[in-house]
Amino acid sequence: MLSSKRPSPIPSPQTVEFWKASAERKFMVPRCRACNRSHWYPRPFCPHCYSQDVALEKASGRGKVYSFTVLTKDKSIVAYVKLDEGPIMLTSIVDTDPEKIGIGSEVTVTFQPTEDGTLVPLFRGA
Ligand SMILES: [Zn+2]
Repeated sequence: MLSSKRPSPIPSPQTVEFWKASAERKFMVPRCRACNRSHWYPRPFCPHCYSQDVALEKASGRGKVYSFTVLTKDKSIVAYVKLDEGPIMLTSIVDTDPEKIGIGSEVTVTFQPTEDGTLVPLFRGA
């Protein structure tokens, strides 16, 4: 509905691989090979142990609403989603009735195009 107005990401050397996978509807989450913990967002080091041995892994695409708000202007849902892999991600919940979302609601990844057609991972009610 408002997806055509969603701004497009500007890939950096640290995120180009993430956006390439996203274009193929693959949601990738970085995992550290030193401490084996996942983190969000993609960056060249682990925020838990500072190792630079991090790699993107295909994520389950599942998570639970940790916190959310419904914008009064257009009823869009902005949420923190706790991914099954562990990290908490600031995102939008789309194609979902706000009345059916609560803390702990299960959500799954979905992909929507931005203004230039780049697919970005968002979430919807499971
Ligand atoms: Zn680590």
